[in-house]
Amino acid sequence: MKKDDLIELTIEDLGVDGEGIGKVDGMAIFVKDAVPGDRVQAKVMKMKKSYGYARLMQVLDPSPERTESRCAFARQCGGCQLQAMTYEAQLDFKAKKVWNHLIRIGSLTDLAKPEIIGMDDPWRYRNKAQFPFGTDKEGNPVTGFYAARSHNIIPCTECWLGVEENKVILEKILDHLKTYHISTYDEVSGKGLLRHVLIRKGFTTGEVMVCLILNGRTMPKLTELVDSLREVPGMTSITINVNTKNTNVIMGTEMIFVWGQDYITDYIGNIKYQISPLSFYQVNPVQTEVLYGKAMEFAAMTGKERVIDAYCGTGTIGIIASRNARDVIGVELNRDAIRDARMNARENKIRNVRFVPGDAGWFMEGMAAGEKVDVVLMDPPRAGSDRKFLHSLLSLSPEKIVYVSCNPETLARDLAYLTKRDYLVKKMQPVDMFPVTDSVEVVCLLENRRTRPGKRNGG
Ligand code: SAH
Repeated sequence: MKKDDLIELTIEDLGVDGEGIGKVDGMAIFVKDAVPGDRVQAKVMKMKKSYGYARLMQVLDPSPERTESRCAFARQCGGCQLQAMTYEAQLDFKAKKVWNHLIRIGSLTDLAKPEIIGMDDPWRYRNKAQFPFGTDKEGNPVTGFYAARSHNIIPCTECWLGVEENKVILEKILDHLKTYHISTYDEVSGKGLLRHVLIRKGFTTGEVMVCLILNGRTMPKLTELVDSLREVPGMTSITINVNTKNTNVIMGTEMIFVWGQDYITDYIGNIKYQISPLSFYQVNPVQTEVLYGKAMEFAAMTGKERVIDAYCGTGTIGIIASRNARDVIGVELNRDAIRDARMNARENKIRNVRFVPGDAGWFMEGMAAGEKVDVVLMDPPRAGSDRKFLHSLLSLSPEKIVYVSCNPETLARDLAYLTKRDYLVKKMQPVDMFPVTDSVEVVCLLENRRTRPGKRNGG
């Protein structure tokens, strides 16, 4: 086999990123957008010693797990790796992905394949979207998404993961640009005005926010644009973000208030959040509630516990936990997130939670030197936790650890470390936070072998 050869193969499995895998002459061939059970024709793109990559050309005999992609641009965009799979097959893929990583840990070999919690409706779950603006060959303004691995904009105002308001708002802005001959930003020359548009919606409140990211501080005929955007039901906040740097980073740091409020509000459970254009907020609030609800169920607190929320971000888990704990301390590297976490606690009149800026490992070292903690909740980034943190976690020796993970690979690595020492994995729950993409979250309960549950509480 060599580059450009046409091959026929049956897809037997899925790789970790959701790409189909089949065999030709004993060699594994990775075919993006192919589904297990498909018989396909593919074109060889690259061959290595024992495996290769091929491009899907034609589905000769479709798998029962194959479905029509909802989005006409699914393959060009690459944002939704699993569009061609039925939702049931997607959930099965994710549960298996978690299982495959975890059974490699010695102590978990007898783990049964876990059930994953999916969504009733796996579409339009994202409350946030950022659309780049540019021009087409004729010089007309366009918006859409970047084609995979490039900065070419494919015109498209309809994304099935986003809210229906996105399309309405984007078309109003495109109309405005055309009517008043307003320029869009060109990454090469660094010239032109409109770079991106950020849209957010509070799913519980219905409040909508638009932030225009400009290579400048204002836009011609801004009042006319505001009048048009105000017609969108729920419109609550219109702002400008100034970004005059020649960079890939979407947002600048300076905000200019334009109309309404400079933030919107939303709820996760009965906790209220103020969301401004620059603040972090969970993009799928429905499944966030499910995920953190599971974390609370696993922690099974009685109201007497001392709790750490490590990698706390804007404090979502810690604030939920504070309702059932004596006190909670959150730790987080990002100072802006700490500021929002404190504001969220204040707004919700929660007084038994504190937030500390800094490295979680450094913080744990300090705690392990003399404090007693009952429950550690941890929600690290994709890279997982580090040795410093895990080592101090063992010295601190809480009765329970609830590990929330967005990457089963680093979760497995960290659990291997903890289960070789004092901890046992008691419960495990995958949750589908991002349907149609290849990512999966897991919440996991670990119990200390050295302390009997309940013994230390209120001690
Ligand atoms: N539960 C949080 C989100 C956690 S995402 C929420 O609801 O907001 C992971 C967080 O870990 C990010 O906010 C990131 O800034 C933070 N982080 C990454 N490395 C860190 C470290 N070494 N110490 C502390 N926090 C860290």
